Amino acid sequence: MTATDRPRPAEPEIADSRLADVAGAAVRRALPQRSRRTVGAWCFADHFGPAENGVGSIGPHPHIGLQTVTWLLEGELRHRDSVGSDQLIRPGQLNLMTAGNGVVHAEEADPTRVGATHGVQLWVAQPEATRHGDPAFEHHDALPEVELGAATASVLVGSFGDVRSPARADTDHLGVQLALRGPTDVPLTPTAEHAILALDGPITVDGRNLDVGQVAYLAPGRNEVSLSASLGSGRALVLGGSPFEAPVHMWWNFVSRGHDESVAAYRDWEASAPRFPEVDSVLPRVPAPRPPWLPPG
Ligand code: MN
Repeated sequence: MTATDRPRPAEPEIADSRLADVAGAAVRRALPQRSRRTVGAWCFADHFGPAENGVGSIGPHPHIGLQTVTWLLEGELRHRDSVGSDQLIRPGQLNLMTAGNGVVHAEEADPTRVGATHGVQLWVAQPEATRHGDPAFEHHDALPEVELGAATASVLVGSFGDVRSPARADTDHLGVQLALRGPTDVPLTPTAEHAILALDGPITVDGRNLDVGQVAYLAPGRNEVSLSASLGSGRALVLGGSPFEAPVHMWWNFVSRGHDESVAAYRDWEASAPRFPEVDSVLPRVPAPRPPWLPPG
């Protein structure tokens, strides 16, 4: 096949994040989108801040069937969970919590600390092979970096270039932050789909503008994408992976394969069942809403 008869990759699809409320703070929710529930195993992407007043904080709440990936650009948060973790996270570090069959955690912003908090919390849907397994937590103090054109890539999860993140990955998903200083061609895996977020200023994706609060989707079939920071420098987040193995059911803090699993988790959280142990936190426990498909009562 020659360059002229090779099919052109599809244009990036650009969509707006929706504003969501997390414990009283406004966040930009890039995933899920109505028409795009997952990108690889990534099923949720909240971009919060930069803001003061506890953005990023949330009291003890449960999860099943997912991993939380926390990455900060500014500030610090204290993570506590039911596997016994008590971990401060700062910019450049990664917190990765695996829920499996059940975990409880809290994220606390220090109310006496001066300065903004800015970051993302992402969820990865666990595959059938691990989603019923034990909960776990990892903290990585530093992540591998790769110089790529006019950018520095920090590899949060998965493999990029010659390096692999030490973070646990149950599927082939990829998470990379690119600190852009100029136009950069970013190599992509053609069998993967990708989502791109602008973290701290507008960027261009194959020449198309992408503002903070928007998300660009790239369908499989691409070898690369061209990124540039519109203001000269800025950070982008690239999420990717092979299309996920199954449709996921997402309700509240639970990722499962259907209503019944979510209802079971809802009832277990309400009953403080053993799979959702207590977490010591200064913040109040978050009550579950009632699943809207259940009859009132
Ligand atoms: Mn959570």
